[in-house]
Amino acid sequence: MKYTSTRNRDLKIEASAAILQGISKDGGLFVPESLPTVSSEQLKELTVLSYPQRAKNILSLLLTDFTAEELDDCVNKAYTGTFEAERPAPLAELGEEGWLLELFHGPTCAFKDMALQLLPELLTRSALKNGCNQKVAILTATSGDTGKAALEGFADRDGVCIQVFYPTDGVSEMQKRQMITQTGKNVSVVGVRGNFDQCQSGVKAIFGDSDFGSELRDKGIVFSSANSINWGRLAPQIVYYFSAYCDLLGSNCIAPGEQINICVPTGNFGNILAAYYAKKMGLPVKKLICASNRNNILTDFIRTASYDRNRPFYTTTSPSMDILISSNLERLLYHLLDEDTEQVKELMEQLAHKGCYTISKQTHRRMTADFCGEFSSDEEASAVINDLFHRYSYLCDPHTAVAVAAARKYRQATEDGTKMLIVSTASPYKFPRSVLSALGTEKITDDDFENLDQLEQISRVPIPEPLKRLKTALPRFDAVCDPDVMRDAVRDFLAH
Ligand SMILES: *Cc1c(COP(=O)(O)O)cnc(C)c1O
Repeated sequence: MKYTSTRNRDLKIEASAAILQGISKDGGLFVPESLPTVSSEQLKELTVLSYPQRAKNILSLLLTDFTAEELDDCVNKAYTGTFEAERPAPLAELGEEGWLLELFHGPTCAFKDMALQLLPELLTRSALKNGCNQKVAILTATSGDTGKAALEGFADRDGVCIQVFYPTDGVSEMQKRQMITQTGKNVSVVGVRGNFDQCQSGVKAIFGDSDFGSELRDKGIVFSSANSINWGRLAPQIVYYFSAYCDLLGSNCIAPGEQINICVPTGNFGNILAAYYAKKMGLPVKKLICASNRNNILTDFIRTASYDRNRPFYTTTSPSMDILISSNLERLLYHLLDEDTEQVKELMEQLAHKGCYTISKQTHRRMTADFCGEFSSDEEASAVINDLFHRYSYLCDPHTAVAVAAARKYRQATEDGTKMLIVSTASPYKFPRSVLSALGTEKITDDDFENLDQLEQISRVPIPEPLKRLKTALPRFDAVCDPDVMRDAVRDFLAH
């Protein structure tokens, strides 16, 4: 199976080349030319397998130029011994809310680990397969969690270096501390005076700068991306939707073939797009509920057919969802528009120049056949954290809370009683201040490690080791730059 670009239908490349390049030269994103399907028989067979084996099976359908041995090796390195729990993606049952799919048991306590523990394995092999003997420089914009997960995945790997750009005022203290204390010879972390969209646009502009690209190629360096624009991020995310369904099947919580709804707290539209791909590959899913915070551009888009980023940007208690330009929407548009790359290009040009576009009635109908959009405020998310803790003794983080609130709103509005899978994207310990405040704690301090201890006492859930260790880790990076000079930071880093 080959991959093509959302902006150039004539392009056909192997999965490994798509992973190595990250983004297409035409500015488009790589998409599978056709999607493989998983039959109900195959689904049943997956049920008895471990997570790494499920991953190997699903990925073998998507990354067709990797051998079975290569995939075996990749998934075992990524998912064996690297996650806190024995199973990397366990389910928690919460009564009438449905099931929470806990994706935060990896080394950085956010769901990004699910893909970013695997991506470096895939990327290293992709470089070999494509005869690339140049150094691969990973540039990554982060709204908080991707940065650390990518640093952790790529630190001290041969033939690769990684530079992360984060918005100085757009990440939690814990997230920032995780990044600036990162160890490794081949890593760099830079704060950007701006928001995530500016970080992401800056990185995309560097990828699109062909002069800069050839300057670096002469020095033996090529760029790639660890953001969810890279197909190597999305493919591993498709796996956990299949895996969750198998777990529900295996424990007789659902019947074979029974449809479920999936609710995903959404920012760059990567995680929910992976769920969409799982649905298109045959996973029995009825509706995908796209949950947003106050930056509810996606809710409006799904409801009105108009995407309009000419609106205020808010910083919220769910910072990883504070995004107004959701990159992966381009992939969805490509599929909704019957792979008409000219139309995709046209819409993306309108977005770049006017900040808005509107899709046709027919395209909108197609979108709403699969998707529904809901959003909630910080106050509503906070009330959910409090409520779940008191009702189920379960502590969730603010991003997950946004999704739980959305799932409730969806159920109330539609009276759709289909069983619900809610994606839980981060450990509550990554956001101790917001969570303590939601629980009504009075003495929240400026020292997050004291806050962690308090939270542990209240919840009796142990603090994850990687966050505990941060207390004594030394900060290594203090560089900060303006969005328009990110390129200079890249040049500086790569000169060493
Ligand atoms: C990245 C992130 C999200 C948003 O995921 P997208 O794939 O960007 O939509 C939600 N919650 C948390 C905790 C995240 O780190």
